[in-house]
Amino acid sequence: MAEARSAYFEDMTSSIPPVHIVGGGLAGSEAAWQVARRGVPVVLHEMRPVRATAAHKTAQCAELVCSNSFRSDDAEASAIGLLHAEMRRLGSLVMHTADAHRLPAGGALAVDRDGFAAAITAALEAEPLIDIRREEIAAPPPGWDNVIIATGPLTSPALAGALRALTGEDALAFFDAIAPIVHRDSIDFDVAWFQSRYDKSGPAGTGADYVNCPLTRAQYDAFVDALLAGEKTEFRDFEQATPYFDGCLPIEVMAERGRETLRHGPMKPFGLTDPRQPGRKPYAVVQLRQDNKLGTLFNMVGFQTKLKHGEQTRIFRTIPGLANAEFARLGGLHRNTFLNSPKLLDATLRLKAEPRLRFAGQITGCEGYVESAAIGLLAGRFAAAERLGETPALPPPSTAHGALLGHITGGHIETIDKGPRSFQPMNVNFGLFPPLGGVARNARKQALCARALADLDGWSGAALPHAAE
Ligand SMILES: Cc1cc2nc3c(=O)[nH]c(=O)nc-3n(C[C@H](O)[C@H](O)[C@H](O)COP(=O)(O)OP(=O)(O)OC[C@H]3O[C@@H](n4cnc5c(N)ncnc54)[C@H](O)[C@@H]3O)c2cc1C
Repeated sequence: MAEARSAYFEDMTSSIPPVHIVGGGLAGSEAAWQVARRGVPVVLHEMRPVRATAAHKTAQCAELVCSNSFRSDDAEASAIGLLHAEMRRLGSLVMHTADAHRLPAGGALAVDRDGFAAAITAALEAEPLIDIRREEIAAPPPGWDNVIIATGPLTSPALAGALRALTGEDALAFFDAIAPIVHRDSIDFDVAWFQSRYDKSGPAGTGADYVNCPLTRAQYDAFVDALLAGEKTEFRDFEQATPYFDGCLPIEVMAERGRETLRHGPMKPFGLTDPRQPGRKPYAVVQLRQDNKLGTLFNMVGFQTKLKHGEQTRIFRTIPGLANAEFARLGGLHRNTFLNSPKLLDATLRLKAEPRLRFAGQITGCEGYVESAAIGLLAGRFAAAERLGETPALPPPSTAHGALLGHITGGHIETIDKGPRSFQPMNVNFGLFPPLGGVARNARKQALCARALADLDGWSGAALPHAAE
């Protein structure tokens, strides 16, 4: 059988050269499937078991390294559930296999991790147009003209070094430093106000670019106490060497260094006055800065943290103006490997400086198993279209796939002033979708989901749903 496939594969590649995919994780496996389903041969290079990562434990493709949950499966009111639904319609191998191996988990989609990874591996091995090679790729050889790099958060050091040489020192990060992001429409503007410090406009600003949340001395003291007492997540063994960058310290670490440290750092009150109360100077101020071009998301400036997620929600909602805050993303600090994609990648995920290289999965700056697979799905379709001489069709921005792709390739905005680089990994969430006018708040999520699925059906790139058999 293997020999027969090999002869078939050789025959196919003599007329259609293969797409090379590096990394057989969530993204690489889905990408390989999508490419092959378009009739294009694939060589999938996966380094396990020849070379291990710090988190994977098996040699299977699409191994889930931690939780076995694909999160909510509600396609009517949750962005991740919508992404599931879209992937099913697009013939995703990952979703098809997850459905076949699902475990009871209420409204969430949880999977039997061993059965899931074994089935994905078997499907890829059985596909005549896919040749899996167990080898580490330290740098994509110059002869490969259509490559997808999907090596994930634990990209091998040799390849990471080669990518860094290609993209520049600051373009590939090895740790994330994530500040929480808040949906703008959940901020209370009876308390908060827009103003830049000392009304400075900067190169891309207006003088009123930040949302400011004021604290009195008593509120500040209580906030610092809550940070100090709040439960934190521990670094995993392989993350112990995670450095704290200058200007990027977790807020609770700053609080430990002295009660006033935050007030002289990210919670500085100077140059900020509530126009409704010009005579009252706040003791401290939390600032939020626009995060996406749509203006729907604002990040809490300098608020990277290792507090547990539940603690973040509880403590940050004590900040005046954020009592009802809805978080599109909570903070974190992890070992990771990801590109500054909005700068480096074009709309179809190709490296602008070297378009034969396309990226997929978490290395592009999405976060999560499902999001990584979804970006793998798109990268696979784009690569196959290109190989077949077609122009890749971009998913509509109103779909979950389009919203996620927009975050990676252009929807995010750079910081308007000095500070750590602001593009950080993100799960899919409704803040990434173009807003819908004229819909009541409580009906908005359902309306966004309905619009997405209708628009997906009209997308020419969706025309070939190839279900896994
Ligand atoms: C410790 C840890 C815990 C996580 N927990 C969760 C969680 O609970 N839920 C969640 O949704 N997400 C979690 N994530 C994020 C998760 O990694 C991603 O969501 C997802 O696995 C990324 O998919 P990917 O395909 O981009 O990368 P991966 O699934 O990691 O796949 C990358 C593949 O590339 C291979 N590879 C690397 N370098 C090379 C090379 N040079 N040559 C050949 N092959 C190579 C690796 O062996 C791996 O198989 C976690 C991440 C880490 C690191």
